Amino acid sequence: SSTSQLLDIDPSKLVVEKTSKPKDLLPSKDLVFGRNFTDHMLTIEWTQESGWSAPKILPYQNLSLDPATCVFHYAFECFEGMKAYKDTKGQIRLFRPDKNMARFNKSAARIALPTFSPEALTSLIAQFAKLESRFIPSERGYSLYLRPTMIGTQKTLGVGPPGSALLYVIASPVGPYYPTGFKAVSLEATDYAVRAWPGGVGDKKLGANYAPCIVPQKEAMSRGFQQNLWLFGEEEYVTEVGTMNFFVAIKNKQTGQKELITAPLDGTILEGVTRDSVLALARERLAPEGWKIEERKYTMGELAEASAEGRLIEAFGAGTAAIVSPVRAISWKGQLVNCGLKDNEESGEIAMKMKEWMEARQYGDEESDWSYIC
Ligand code: PMP
Repeated sequence: SSTSQLLDIDPSKLVVEKTSKPKDLLPSKDLVFGRNFTDHMLTIEWTQESGWSAPKILPYQNLSLDPATCVFHYAFECFEGMKAYKDTKGQIRLFRPDKNMARFNKSAARIALPTFSPEALTSLIAQFAKLESRFIPSERGYSLYLRPTMIGTQKTLGVGPPGSALLYVIASPVGPYYPTGFKAVSLEATDYAVRAWPGGVGDKKLGANYAPCIVPQKEAMSRGFQQNLWLFGEEEYVTEVGTMNFFVAIKNKQTGQKELITAPLDGTILEGVTRDSVLALARERLAPEGWKIEERKYTMGELAEASAEGRLIEAFGAGTAAIVSPVRAISWKGQLVNCGLKDNEESGEIAMKMKEWMEARQYGDEESDWSYIC
């Protein structure tokens, strides 16, 4: 790499300073996503002159940064979202951390932040998650949400590559996204605002991609829809839903073939780890049952037509937070496009199976190379 003469992240140099004030654990049922954090944080500083310094696990604490720090002005920030799960033996398992590390490096490189050895950071995150083991409930649906973050820390209003950076990881114990079982959501197809575009950065996990989506989300909420279905272009291609990738199951108009479809990675779609996992499981387990698994462009018009003709079987979002999130209906051009659920159903069959299959691998009930034992 271009930083080969500089130091890479070195897990053998880890310094651990344990907290003298361990936090009380909240009752599992009171956990709110991203609200409560563990006792410690992992931090690693980088400078242009020397590369990555010795990693530290420190008591969870505030950062102190000069008001001129470049992250505050030009959004030199990228992040990851991943989870650690406790298995029945009490071991802590990361789910496909290699995928998150690869994406983190791509995001960092796109905004002139430093890259790092994926194996080194995975090993440090594993040690951090293990240290916070007491915060991870072992019940199904619970996990430790990990938030690797990188920011440019150079004090300058000059617009240029940051000469220094901070990589840190914080951790938040989380409960099941749907504590009482699946709850299908309704979406508003959004055409007046665009989340990502060809040649843009929508395929990177930059903080700057997220703030502009909140006003459209509030708009959708005000009309009774939980999330935006992000459309793109005059053709109204379906891209993603809220902060999840989107899957639809459709019966082909001509052939009657059952198809599981998601948008292709054309630069306007985040490369979701869950998306990749759903595709892999579908190719392994649904394709032999006659399903065709497709990464291709499809339009909102195609969905509406399938729905009107009774060919839209189900639709769901896929992401780390909820794993899968079934969709009941999509509001589009004044019509409500029904996504195949009966009134008394909260999920279709594929979403249900996917959640089961994913959890089996996340909690290590089914051994696989997707599970990294800490
Ligand atoms: N799309 C967007 C825009 C996201 O923010 C996320 C969450 N990271 C996803 C999709 C789903 O990605 P993953 O499965 O890796 O959580």
